[in-house]
Amino acid sequence: MHADMLQRLELEAELRHAADRGELVLHYQPIVELSSGRITSVEALVRWQHPTRGLLGPLAFIPLAEEQGIIGPIGRWVLSEACRQARRWQDRFQGVPPLSMHVNLSGRQLQQPGLIAEVAQALEASAMEPGLLTMEITETVLMADTETVSQRLQDLKQLGVRLAIDDFGTGYSSLSYLRRFPIDGIKIDRSFIDAIDTDREEADLVGSIITLSNRLKLETVAEGVERWSQLARLRSLGASVGQGYYMAVPLSPSEVVTFAREFTMEQRSAA
Ligand code: C2E
Ligand code: MG
Ligand code: MG
Repeated sequence: MHADMLQRLELEAELRHAADRGELVLHYQPIVELSSGRITSVEALVRWQHPTRGLLGPLAFIPLAEEQGIIGPIGRWVLSEACRQARRWQDRFQGVPPLSMHVNLSGRQLQQPGLIAEVAQALEASAMEPGLLTMEITETVLMADTETVSQRLQDLKQLGVRLAIDDFGTGYSSLSYLRRFPIDGIKIDRSFIDAIDTDREEADLVGSIITLSNRLKLETVAEGVERWSQLARLRSLGASVGQGYYMAVPLSPSEVVTFAREFTMEQRSAA
């Protein structure tokens, strides 16, 4: 226990400097149109290139950063780097529809008074169009439903960015959030997608969510698509966009370019 605690303290101390030391990296997971395979957006997912422990996934340090109140610099870095990258791609692929960028916001980040200024700053510095930025907020964060959360979401909308509920379906009263908050899209949690190709009831449930979401004109992303049979079922249920290992794992920026190019070439050779 003692050793564990020391390790944790050490990790925490290192985490405080990870952003300044340039140890954070972003991978980008494609979000694709299910009918064509065309990439429409990417989700920025942070990793920590730790000097001795190797590449750490977000679950190994984001909860710790949240708990210790040191998410601030990490969140700022993620936001500004994601916007810069979106802009680089836009400049590089002129003439094709620009990729929109999804960035995750944690509960603490949403509580921080400086958040709105930071988002405005990241957009301005990158000259990125605000409508191309989607902030993903986990449903359990919305469950807190404090005045602050509500106000922050309104303020984000004022900046022109889009809002999506992440891990949709994992909270208690998901449906009420759709009315209460100025939401543009939902991401159906992977746990619901898991058995849609084998379990009739799961498929019915997901089908109902998709129908409702489409009716409300929300963008509906199915998360965690791992197999062709899930993708086929999603299509038949009316889903238009998905994300998951079947299409692509989180990629480096240059791999995203290759992914987007290959698609374009396939389209050309099919035409
Ligand atoms: P999330 O936002 O729901 O992101 C999706 C997670 O599911 C990613 O894990 C992704 O790699 C994984 N995933 C995608 N497709 C599949 C699939 O087909 N099968 C399976 N089994 N998994 C799939 P990752 O990168 O480990 O991120 C975990 C969570 O950490 C994210 O969940 C998000 O809540 C959080 N996170 C990531 N980056 C950031 C960040 O920059 N800021 C904040 N605040 N949180 C972040
Ligand atoms: Mg997310
Ligand atoms: Mg999610």
